[in-house]
Amino acid sequence: MKRWAATSAIILPGNYDKPKQPERVQPSVALEPEKKKAATMPKVIQDEFSALPISRQRKWQLRQVRDGNCKRCGRKRTSYPQLCDPCQLYESLYRFL
Ligand SMILES: [Zn+2]
Repeated sequence: MKRWAATSAIILPGNYDKPKQPERVQPSVALEPEKKKAATMPKVIQDEFSALPISRQRKWQLRQVRDGNCKRCGRKRTSYPQLCDPCQLYESLYRFL
């Protein structure tokens, strides 16, 4: 039982430290509506994928691959073309089950 828990802790990608999300600024009540919107909404991303007729998820994946990150979890890639090491290991182990 203990052995199984130890192996799963190594293999599963969800157990690794996830990359931190950028902190959102909490707008105060005194801000005007436009400034309030600018403080809460993230900036619109304009790049080569913006106009493509594909889903937001696929655009995110393409941007991650372009920036050298894993297309599944967003961590930095080291040795594989699209996935990080834990995700690639997960994929290799469970693809054919
Ligand atoms: Zn990954």
